[in-house]
Amino acid sequence: MRNLILFGPPGAGKGTQSAFLVEHYQLVHLSTGDIFRANIKGDTELGQLAKSYMDQGKLVPDEVTIRMLESEVNKHPQAMGFIFDGFPRTTAQAQALDVFLESKGQSIASMCALEVPEAELKTRLLARAETSGRPDDANPEVIQKRIDVYNHETAPVADHYRAAGKYQGIDGVGSIEDITQRLTEAIGA
Ligand code: ADP
Repeated sequence: MRNLILFGPPGAGKGTQSAFLVEHYQLVHLSTGDIFRANIKGDTELGQLAKSYMDQGKLVPDEVTIRMLESEVNKHPQAMGFIFDGFPRTTAQAQALDVFLESKGQSIASMCALEVPEAELKTRLLARAETSGRPDDANPEVIQKRIDVYNHETAPVADHYRAAGKYQGIDGVGSIEDITQRLTEAIGA
């Protein structure tokens, strides 16, 4: 099994690159943001809770997010591996993921971190707002909040994987194809 974390700030291109990687490596794509948005669309209890945080650019509480992620993983007992996109976003989530995978005799193979300067992120998110329909992309204050939350709560997650020798930084600026190429070189065959 090969389990990858695609890491990076909002707007780094995690969703875009995941689409290629799942195909290429035959992995199951789990994007916590996508799952929350599907729940919002379906007007579930989880969706209503998640929306109250997402609209403000805040993180959904760890306990809820971790429980949801574990239940999604358990839906795919035949998977050849997972690509985690948007998770883990806090050190507590990373620790919970380690324990959870270990209980299944699994682990994270590598964290691929897309590195993109902040000014570029803001430009990309505002451009994405034109087509994404995402309220959290359309408001510059919410974008700033998401970037601040990333810097304070999520960036430290990289240290967790760096300490385990699993961190791979990838230049996330360039064409989609160039970045895909960098990722596949980093991940290997
Ligand atoms: P982006 O990476 O562009 O911010 P995502 O779709 O990954 O977009 O996340 C959108 C929002 O969903 C986040 O701002 C947060 O409110 C919520 N969210 C997604 N993943 C997590 C997570 N692992 N923990 C807590 N909240 C999350």
